[in-house]
Amino acid sequence: MLKLVDINKTYDNKVVALKDLNLQIKKPQLAVIIGPSGCGKTTLLRIIAGLERGDRGQIIINEETVNALKPSQRDISFVFQDPSLFAHMNCFHNIAYGNHGSMEKDQLRSRIEKIAKMLGIAELLDRYPSSLSGGQKQRVAIARAICKPSKLILMDEPFNNLDAQLKQSLIKDIRLLQKELNLMILYVTHDKKEAFELADILIVMDHGQIVQIAKPSAVYHQPVNPFVASFFGDMNFFSGELVNNLLSFAGNQIQLSGKHDDGAVIFAIRPEDIVKNGPIKIYDVQRQDRGNYFLFTAKINDQTVMIKSASEDFFDSIEIPTKKLIIWKKVLDANR
Ligand code: ATP
Repeated sequence: MLKLVDINKTYDNKVVALKDLNLQIKKPQLAVIIGPSGCGKTTLLRIIAGLERGDRGQIIINEETVNALKPSQRDISFVFQDPSLFAHMNCFHNIAYGNHGSMEKDQLRSRIEKIAKMLGIAELLDRYPSSLSGGQKQRVAIARAICKPSKLILMDEPFNNLDAQLKQSLIKDIRLLQKELNLMILYVTHDKKEAFELADILIVMDHGQIVQIAKPSAVYHQPVNPFVASFFGDMNFFSGELVNNLLSFAGNQIQLSGKHDDGAVIFAIRPEDIVKNGPIKIYDVQRQDRGNYFLFTAKINDQTVMIKSASEDFFDSIEIPTKKLIIWKKVLDANR
């Protein structure tokens, strides 16, 4: 279990990197921290690891407050962007590093062999880092972090320097290892595709704070605010007015079901959720071939709308399905 209470960090240059950050992860899983560049992801990981000091706040790992402990005493493993292996040790000894004494020799050997097999590096155990490719080195670094039975594994953009295909196969490996060995992994990335492919749970950060913690599908379909909505893919935003469940916008009206407060709202819908042909007239329709889909842009009076479609056929009206609408009170938008 990882619990962070009111973590704050302001660097000497007055940059506020983390602000009153709270987080609780109860069970072993792959938790992915994602957010734009500079939002504080790495700072948070370094504070959990003990490589950086927070100004305030409490870090609790499995019921123990670890603030006063050195990194080596926190029972945490790391994988960074740079695999930083020991050049004078072969892969086996690199993976075993830090484990001597933690288990019997035979047990350690069989754990290393099992993990190496799962990561596809069983044939490399006798080789030295200088003879390995970037991807192989990163696999060895992952094996080292996972081999040690630690309470928490921290990964900071470990696949950044690798090509897309290799990244894809390592993502599969990490998911498999997490499930098989029941590991608690906190993984930082700014890559949305990678985050969706990896995460059991997504932790979305913005300006030093966590803005949403949810399953990937919930972050995509029920984003808590317009920032999260647009961060995870194309999104249509409209300004409107709600009165008695009737949503008015750009000269159109949509009848909503459920219970909604009256007032000014921002509402959003993904371009792929809009249905071609319906009660809302559109104008100036443009089409772009995007490979696996067509992106149409059009006007609804003064507001612009994007529609994704598998078919290239033009159309002059749309339906906005109410079930797919995401609605926020306008004040939320003004706060950002
Ligand atoms: P990226 O995705 O670009 O790696 P990040 O989300 O990991 O970004 P951090 O590296 O945690 O963000 O940085 C958070 C903020 O703190 C940024 O504004 C950054 O410039 C600042 N910062 C980070 N390290 C230091 C430092 N050592 N001294 C001063 N400011 C720092």
